[in-house]
Amino acid sequence: MMHDTPKHKGLRNQLVKTVESKGIRDKNVLGAISNIPRHLFMDSGFIDFAYQDKAFPIAADQTISQPFTVAFQTELLQINPKDKVLEIGTGSGYQTAVLIDLKAEVYSIERQKELYEKTKKFLPKVGYVAKKLKHGDGYKGWSEYAPFDKIIVTAGAPFVPKPLLSQLKIGGRLVIPVGEDVQIMTLFIRKDKSEFEKHEFGEFRFVPMLKESAK
Ligand code: SAH
Repeated sequence: MMHDTPKHKGLRNQLVKTVESKGIRDKNVLGAISNIPRHLFMDSGFIDFAYQDKAFPIAADQTISQPFTVAFQTELLQINPKDKVLEIGTGSGYQTAVLIDLKAEVYSIERQKELYEKTKKFLPKVGYVAKKLKHGDGYKGWSEYAPFDKIIVTAGAPFVPKPLLSQLKIGGRLVIPVGEDVQIMTLFIRKDKSEFEKHEFGEFRFVPMLKESAK
């Protein structure tokens, strides 16, 4: 049942217009939203809602992020082809697919085993191949493959994990929503070994980034 139709494509073009009207300008990011069949990333009961600009429940009490939020975070990352990108919170794999569509090499970590297993099987089926996926704790980053050009966190972080800052290349960008109930979208640009530039971009709401790996 892995199929895409002209109807879905049409709905996607509407979604692109919506996201654009909310301020997303990057043509490649808009192109990714137009290319990726988001309905296939959602549990079947929600397929009719796949092209609304909303977050929706997926397995393990998690959510697939709102398309605008995905676009906003991706635009802040300024992805170049071949960028080595670390993603924390694979979830449905939708954000992963956006990064792959932009020709990034994606390393992604998911804390929920069930989601990790499901998305690991699913992504290649729809033609999106990540460099590496793992079940683990994103607070630690992934030192084995560091440093990264870009790092994106797709869950609400109560604080900025130090390993993520230290695993960033000089000139690299970390995009992370920081806060408990409400999060401030925050961009860190690494200027030097110990110097980071910090920019804040308003309020968002994410499911919380949790400690340690779940079963
Ligand atoms: N990018 C995903 C967003 C899923 S919601 C999508 O669009 O589908 C956030 C995800 O982060 C959830 O899947 C959650 O299980 C995961 N997560 C929460 N805490 C984490 C941690 N410490 N390490 C890795 N993943 C985590």
